[in-house]
Amino acid sequence: MPLTDEELLARAERAAGSAYAPYSNFNVGAALLLRNGDVVTGVNVENASYPLGMCAERCALARAVAEGARPGGVEALAVTASPCGGCRQWLLEFGVDRIAFMHDGELRVRAPADLLPDSFIL
Ligand SMILES: [Zn+2]
Repeated sequence: MPLTDEELLARAERAAGSAYAPYSNFNVGAALLLRNGDVVTGVNVENASYPLGMCAERCALARAVAEGARPGGVEALAVTASPCGGCRQWLLEFGVDRIAFMHDGELRVRAPADLLPDSFIL
């Protein structure tokens, strides 16, 4: 039985507890559902040199790539905050079917192209 978007978001919420966000205190968690059914989580990782910080979505994608995932291999991503523009670009490149995230207190589910219209892609 595949995970629902709500179940995937619950995994992201649990992951958020492991975030490293001492500067913003804004913990974010993400959970990727791979097409083989595996779930890979990520968290935001901040740094004293602020621009070096990593978003939870890209952390999860990088972990999945290290385990062999490639574009087309990711079914869905859930994240506890609305994805930033950079993460939207990453998710578009990986061909994620849908992105589930909390916004204005409700679960939104969108296709990457809807979150990044007229986007750059090779
Ligand atoms: Zn981001």
